[in-house]
Amino acid sequence: MIEIKGLSKKFGKTEVLKDLNGTVEKGQVICVIGPSGGGKSTFLRCLNLLEQPTSGQVTFEDSDLTALNEGQLNQLREKMGMVFQSFNLFSNMTVIENVKLAPMKVKSMSSDDAQTLALKLLDQVGLKEKADVYPASLSGGQQQRVAIARALAMNPDVMLFDEPTSALDPEMVGEVLKVMQDLANEGMTMVVVTHEMGFAKNVADQVWFMDGGVFAEKGTPTEIFDHPQNERTQDFLAKIL
Ligand code: ADP
Ligand code: MG
Repeated sequence: MIEIKGLSKKFGKTEVLKDLNGTVEKGQVICVIGPSGGGKSTFLRCLNLLEQPTSGQVTFEDSDLTALNEGQLNQLREKMGMVFQSFNLFSNMTVIENVKLAPMKVKSMSSDDAQTLALKLLDQVGLKEKADVYPASLSGGQQQRVAIARALAMNPDVMLFDEPTSALDPEMVGEVLKVMQDLANEGMTMVVVTHEMGFAKNVADQVWFMDGGVFAEKGTPTEIFDHPQNERTQDFLAKIL
């Protein structure tokens, strides 16, 4: 579904991503882990070209994103849902209005159809009863679940998550991870930058350890967590586990 070839990114003279390669198959869950500043967010933003790579290719469903014009790119971006650490819900809209907005605006869906879709998605993330409240009255975990529903409303083929639980109080992390795990179980293709090693262990098909702008090591959760080969992986895991 996604193929990354020779992806590099510089900010000025600083090379933040160095010749990255990787493949994300349909239905796979890839967890990207690694120390802060290693390039994880930049990598994720390069996957949908929110960040323009300095060199290399990102191919999504057989289209080379780096070769597309802005209009073509925006069409493909609709197929890539993104969820950030900060939920970024529109505070002046109710929960359901937040979820309905993109399908109505971008896909010209009728309000009735968007309503039906949004209620189904809110039900999926366990928040149907909160449809008509404003985001400010929700907890962080609830807001992040709405943000996931909102991303799903565009019927994406892949979901990109950048530390979706890092801004949450500890007691709310589980409810968001549960929603993500359910998504994975339903076959959603996902690339998840996370510090939640339990999630990576249980849900990932592949774990990519990123440090200093390179994938220092890639493997199954068992390979990465139980038998890390790379010294930097070993050091990182020793510090956090
Ligand atoms: P991570 O998500 O792993 O913490 P980031 O991708 O956010 O890492 O950052 C990787 C490096 O790139 C850091 O050194 C950061 O300071 C730098 N960086 C990120 N975004 C920018 C930017 N827009 N301009 C300049 N430097 C940036
Ligand atoms: Mg980051």
